[in-house]
Amino acid sequence: MSSEYESMWRGLGLNLEAHDALLGVLGKGYTDIYLAQKDRPEGMGYFDFVMSEVHGLRIKELVDEKEQGRKIIGSYCVFVPEEIALATNATLVGLCSGADFALEEVEKYLPRNTCALIKSAFGFKLGQVCPYLETADMVVGENTCDGKKKAYESLGTLMDNLYVMDLPQMKSGQGRDLLRSEYDRFKLAVEALTGVVITPESLKQAIGIVNAKRSALHRLAKLRSADPVVISGLDGLLANQVSFYDNPKRFTESVHKICDELEKRIQTDQKIFPVKTPRILISGCPMAVPNWKLPWIIETSGAVIVGEESCVGERGYRNLTRDTGTTVDELMDAITDRYFDVDCAIFTPNQDRLDHIQEMTKAYQADGVIHYGLQFCQPYTMEAICVENALEKKDIPCLRIETDYGMEDVGQLKTRIEAFIEQLK
Ligand code: SF4
Ligand code: SF4
Repeated sequence: MSSEYESMWRGLGLNLEAHDALLGVLGKGYTDIYLAQKDRPEGMGYFDFVMSEVHGLRIKELVDEKEQGRKIIGSYCVFVPEEIALATNATLVGLCSGADFALEEVEKYLPRNTCALIKSAFGFKLGQVCPYLETADMVVGENTCDGKKKAYESLGTLMDNLYVMDLPQMKSGQGRDLLRSEYDRFKLAVEALTGVVITPESLKQAIGIVNAKRSALHRLAKLRSADPVVISGLDGLLANQVSFYDNPKRFTESVHKICDELEKRIQTDQKIFPVKTPRILISGCPMAVPNWKLPWIIETSGAVIVGEESCVGERGYRNLTRDTGTTVDELMDAITDRYFDVDCAIFTPNQDRLDHIQEMTKAYQADGVIHYGLQFCQPYTMEAICVENALEKKDIPCLRIETDYGMEDVGQLKTRIEAFIEQLK
């Protein structure tokens, strides 16, 4: 891939040497973790291709879109509505932040005890290795946790196109009003960026595209509840990860193809894991590409993951947006209602998330929950204790893990996870 796209990467201002190193690690990780799996659905071939071209063909598509006048918006959080971007004919891409990079440089801007996700966002910028970030005409950060909130002040000094969105912390009337006014402000900013004024028709069409994508992910999630399982958790996670940067219509079609295949597997009682393999629900912080460490440990330790209570998972696609409005105002209200239901741990109180984890455990026939918190992430690591207590009351086993993107703790994690899986058996 390198030589073919080299001039494009150079044109985007990437540091080619550092970028090659990143691609090398990514490629090896993907081969060792993903391609080593057995009995994968044939439809995953599409995702293998997408991953092999993640910095190649997809970036070329974005560059071509830009040449045709389309704007690219990068986002770090599921609170940034893709519907608004699409309604102005812009493309929204997730900025992954799933790997450590240029840590020494990063720690000149951030304290050491910052979560890996925020450090990664800085590392990708400082190391000049993310073509998505460099392609974006606007990068949207959001005031969710305190870490992100303060980090964007520094990140803003490294780029001139950072737009910061304020977010509420409580599910109150005032909280909802704040979200609506921030979405109105974002709409104006995107209209100014693209020169396109949103109409009821364009917004409705955009809602339809995003709803279709989320419905496809719902279908996939439902098929993962089958017993025996018909797809690995790693592959389920990958579909969620790819949903953040692939073309939404093409992605939707590809997920449906996999679902058709999985339905056949269910009909023919195909087993890809031994009977009675313990089923795990993962809950907690988002796992962005290429953060596959924990799922890989779990699925090579005798268990299978049946769902993710995560922004890169069901928290991100759980709710659809009402498309019954006939005015921009009504549709903006529908978008606000939809996103206001996202139960991120930045909200207080956050009972909805505790209930939802229990509902998911039941719906996906999970035997236990592994709560994944990134080190130094206060919202999720603090809420993990409430999650564990709530699950304990329902006799649902729960293991709390705190980790980062490093590989130093793999052995220790494996020992704890194997013991937990034994307990589930
Ligand atoms: S966990 Fe919260 S802050 Fe992070 S991506 Fe999800 S909604 Fe945004
Ligand atoms: S993982 Fe936690 S600390 Fe890090 S950005 Fe997300 S909410 Fe903030």
